[in-house]
Amino acid sequence: MNLGVVGAGTMGRGIAQVAMTNSCKVVLFDRSEDALETTKVEHKNILDRLIKKGKLQGTSQDYLQNITYTQSLKDFEHVDFLIEAIVEDFAIKKELFQSLENIVATDAILATNTSSLSIASIASALKNPSRCLGVHFFNPAPIMPLVEVIPAVQTSDSVFNHVYETLTSWNKIAVKAKDTPGFIVNRVARPFYGEALRILEEGIADVPTIDWAMTSIGKFRMGPFQLMDFIGNDVNYTVTETVFQSFYNDPRYKPSFTQKRLAEAGYLGRKSGKGYYDYDNFSSNPKPTKDETLGHHILNRILVMLINEAADALYLNIASAKDIDLAMEKGVNYPKGLLKWANQKGITWCKERMDDLYNTYHEDRYRCSAILRKYSAENLQFPV
Ligand code: NAD
Repeated sequence: MNLGVVGAGTMGRGIAQVAMTNSCKVVLFDRSEDALETTKVEHKNILDRLIKKGKLQGTSQDYLQNITYTQSLKDFEHVDFLIEAIVEDFAIKKELFQSLENIVATDAILATNTSSLSIASIASALKNPSRCLGVHFFNPAPIMPLVEVIPAVQTSDSVFNHVYETLTSWNKIAVKAKDTPGFIVNRVARPFYGEALRILEEGIADVPTIDWAMTSIGKFRMGPFQLMDFIGNDVNYTVTETVFQSFYNDPRYKPSFTQKRLAEAGYLGRKSGKGYYDYDNFSSNPKPTKDETLGHHILNRILVMLINEAADALYLNIASAKDIDLAMEKGVNYPKGLLKWANQKGITWCKERMDDLYNTYHEDRYRCSAILRKYSAENLQFPV
């Protein structure tokens, strides 16, 4: 297979690495010479490291001979499959896809790695939109096994199937997601941040205590505030705001002023040295209050909101129950799939916790998904 990758940034260089280490010929384009030069050096260093660790056989040259770095789109003439990973801007992506359509073969597949744009809108830029779809990798692409594959309304079944099989052959875990805001992961994960922020804003617990509850009791790899600082408060806030606006201001996804102010202040997290935590003087950060009762209250409240979101995604056929659970386990390392977790906690328990929250706040944000009510009434389990 001949793969084309447009954009040698964070995602494009990772996707190119995945393909070249899986026996594909890769053409990697960037308009910036600097980006290509940095990528070349990075690829060689990573390959050498993987070979030294015994994770890859042979020499780095064996893999590097599979890749061409270019500043000319014309070099995409012979690709069968192309993945775009440039700046998240609809007008720029649209112009790129229109140029590409005049270069690649008529049956080449054109995919976008967009996180937030609709795949249908990108496909509509093409004369033949049936060959376009979304392939959403997670960062870092060579390490995170999940790829969400998103057919647009225009995408042909054969294009979807071909891409799904290709990704599987690269040892990726491919899940099929509907073309809706945030696809699976960026939609279902919203309450992990949003409900933690709400608990903080209400003064129920402070930042380290919420993180302690989620990691020590909940077994999440990182707490919500640790993770927001890791992702960057600017980036995480923008994703939340985009999802909120795309869902016509559904209060379930409402962004938080706490996070907005941190982003405005330049307290972006690890990358700026300060966010919810101070990274330059880490020992000065407050310690968690290790109160088990409070910890379980925090965990259960965030967990049930996550479960409600996952259940609603299933209810609205965003993906299958199995794929929703796989996506959260393999895309963001959740300790357990949320629907499996719901089965274990009890569907009626989940429904009752959502109703408790709704009865307390009378806010639409806490509405219980219809599927939790139905499964509780009929004593059903999620098919995971
Ligand atoms: P990035 O800024 O790291 O890299 C983008 C690259 O594209 C840069 O090297 C830039 O020179 C190049 N570029 C910009 N405009 C171009 C153009 N018109 N033509 C050709 N090259 C151009 O961006 P990224 O973080 O790799 O994100 C790329 C895409 O992947 C975006 O759509 C983003 O939403 C999506 N995405 C990002 C992540 C993430 O965690 N960073 C995760 C999943 C998906």
